[in-house]
Amino acid sequence: MIEIRFHGRGGQGAVTASRLIAEAVAKEGKYAQAIPMYGTERRGAPVTAYVRIDYRPIRRRDLVHEPDIVIVIDPILSRKPSVAAGLKSGGLLLLNYPTPPEEVEIGGDFMVSTVDATTIALETLGRPITNTAVLGAFSRVTGITKLKSLEEAILKRFPGEIGKRNVEALRRAYEEVHLPKPAKGPLRPREEEPPHVTGYGVLKSVADWRVFRPVVDLEKCVGCRLCWIYCPETAISLVDEKPIIDYDKCKGCGICVHECPVKAIEFVRESV
Ligand code: SF4
Ligand code: SF4
Repeated sequence: MIEIRFHGRGGQGAVTASRLIAEAVAKEGKYAQAIPMYGTERRGAPVTAYVRIDYRPIRRRDLVHEPDIVIVIDPILSRKPSVAAGLKSGGLLLLNYPTPPEEVEIGGDFMVSTVDATTIALETLGRPITNTAVLGAFSRVTGITKLKSLEEAILKRFPGEIGKRNVEALRRAYEEVHLPKPAKGPLRPREEEPPHVTGYGVLKSVADWRVFRPVVDLEKCVGCRLCWIYCPETAISLVDEKPIIDYDKCKGCGICVHECPVKAIEFVRESV
């Protein structure tokens, strides 16, 4: 049996990715389970999902605690050594990360593979929804499911133009993934909180949930307050009728960028 754990954030499609893998391997005659774990229902919050794959019917129903493969679809979570918690010796850590595996700062007795899924998603879908790109990388580096089976599963779930663009992201990542190398970074500090623990409270900083940072151009701002009204995290306060963003509270959802009527808020990609 192969056991997989996904890490992502609400809105990036970790749960959908787990289901697409399960559907793809089922097309190939294998048995699969996809198990979502939502935790807090909050856009941007850490999300975990699990997949089991076997040639025989699967009787287990518990969560996966010692995965053979960990897949991280969020580039900021990919910096956290704790994503490798419980990963089996000789297992695979597949990260959405912009640099080759040799530059990943995570150590252990497992292999690391990377793909810049955020760039691929932005260039094919126009949005940082990275799940289908990461699945292309998964197909190439593990061979557990064929690219064609994943393409069929994607087109069934997303018919039309959206499906075609997701298949493009899948194929690009298949070609561009950095193949696995032994993990060489520093070992995980014991006290670090595993990212798959959900249930964040409002007092905890959500700064590291962000893939993009909103930046206000105060010259363009006309003081309409819409960003202040719509921000779901109360990260925006008004000083002299102009918005000031508290970046400890901002999770990078982009609602303020979308709502600003004069395009005074730019969304700038955070560096990984
Ligand atoms: S400041 Fe903007 S991007 Fe940040 S949480 Fe509020 S609405 Fe979302
Ligand atoms: S929505 Fe735009 S124009 Fe209105 S207060 Fe916010 S930044 Fe200024």
